[in-house]
Amino acid sequence: MLDNTQVERLEAEAVNSAKVRQPLYAARKKVFPKRASGSFRQFKWLVMAITLGIYYLTPWLRWDRGPFAPDQAVLLDVANRRFYFFFIEIWPQEFYYVAGLLVMAGVGLFLITSTVGRAWCGYTCPQTVWVDLFLVVERAIEGDRNARMKLDAGPWTARKLALRVSKHAIWLVIGAATGGAWIFYFADAPTLAGELFTGTAAPVAYITVAVLTATTYTFGGLMREQVCTYMCPWPRIQAAMLDENSLTVTYNDWRGEPRSRHAKKVLAAGQPVGDCVDCNACVAVCPMGIDIRDGQQLECITCALCIDACDGVMDKLGREHGLISYATLSDYNANMMLATAGGSGSVNPSLVRTADGLFSDKVAHFHIRKIFRPRTYVYMGLWSLIGLGLLYSLLTRDRLEVNVLHDRNPQFVTLSDGSIRNGYTVKLLNMIPEPRTIVVTLEGLEGAEMSVVGVDLPAGRSVPISVEPDRLKMLKVFVRQPAGQIHGTAQTFKFRAEDKASFESDEYTATFNAPEIAR
Ligand code: SF4
Ligand code: SF4
Repeated sequence: MLDNTQVERLEAEAVNSAKVRQPLYAARKKVFPKRASGSFRQFKWLVMAITLGIYYLTPWLRWDRGPFAPDQAVLLDVANRRFYFFFIEIWPQEFYYVAGLLVMAGVGLFLITSTVGRAWCGYTCPQTVWVDLFLVVERAIEGDRNARMKLDAGPWTARKLALRVSKHAIWLVIGAATGGAWIFYFADAPTLAGELFTGTAAPVAYITVAVLTATTYTFGGLMREQVCTYMCPWPRIQAAMLDENSLTVTYNDWRGEPRSRHAKKVLAAGQPVGDCVDCNACVAVCPMGIDIRDGQQLECITCALCIDACDGVMDKLGREHGLISYATLSDYNANMMLATAGGSGSVNPSLVRTADGLFSDKVAHFHIRKIFRPRTYVYMGLWSLIGLGLLYSLLTRDRLEVNVLHDRNPQFVTLSDGSIRNGYTVKLLNMIPEPRTIVVTLEGLEGAEMSVVGVDLPAGRSVPISVEPDRLKMLKVFVRQPAGQIHGTAQTFKFRAEDKASFESDEYTATFNAPEIAR
């Protein structure tokens, strides 16, 4: 076990903390995050593997929808205006499902933020994940923090040039793979991949890959923490979603201060001393270039790497983990009151400990029940309600639709036998990937018959129509009613469309117009 003076002190500066940050026209001070190890780092590796795996592999998953529909599990088919997601197929008029999912994602983000703070930023945001990936490459080529800082400060040599070229080349390959994976969501992935490499893909594919390569390389490799600090609105919005019971990464100065590297001397002088040995390990690992000991900051993405770094130091010192921890503001405030004797003085960490050095029973710790409070119940309720509504609507939605447009000019035609004829455009939507025979029937409109242009059948009250899989069929339909059976200048009736095989049906109420004189 080490004492305070034996813990290595890292020369780390919080170059991106608001109090030392240069004005915007000043050159950025580079951040060289040190590799962290610990349970949060392990968890972040896992999340990174899962999120990147989902992103890169999803377009290659296949889903058999029969011979008349694409077999790509997730496909945004812009040309045919369809969105395929495994067994779900969304037509343009059903876009409300996508809107519903976006609302659910928004409410979910509120829920997560109000409970575990900026977990989205710290673990799953694409910017965080890709920066992490780019840092893996940087460390593998240039080494950890000290080696990178030395290389950066050193003169340009053949070695430095070779390392930098290798690093940037791999970053560009990652950027191109990111852009490449994105376009595979919009077309059959194996086909498009072949076209891409043989130079026969559409220009828009190459342009999209180029733009996404550039943005991934710039945001993930060059700008890194600046994207979160200057470009992203989320840090500003999240403040409204946090409350005193939200978990955030917190430096517990009620046990850490006064910080000192020479605890024995300070104690011998009769002064209190906290657990922080001022080793800067937490600053050195921070990818945002800040010092969590300065308190909650907009720049902190709550990646928790400083927790791992500090827990490692506490292990060496034989002290409890959690000098930096996930904590709620209410627990933090309660512990600060304890450590400052009700706010009457500065922090005295001996006030939070018993005579044998253990934490006092009065120290507040996080309890899982703090997650369940009115605010989170509302978010959870709203989220579940929207989800259940979408699910119900999805399971009960029609896969057959009929829509009708009445001819505007002329509204009706009087035939030589005195009967009246109206023209309509009838649209039949077969929303399943199989061919269907849909029977269109007139309901109401006494004595009327219809004929369909291009269908070689005598006029009647019912016409069977073949509709291709997953297609909309437009019919020109004329409805004729004998003069003696006309009962008004605007009679309503129905076009009913029915698939006799599946018993699915839909109907549309239309109007039949006639002149006053015809009655
Ligand atoms: S202060 Fe800690 S939690 Fe916040 S960004 Fe830095 S390392 Fe991550
Ligand atoms: S908070 Fe922990 S990691 Fe940071 S300087 Fe203090 S002891 Fe070191």
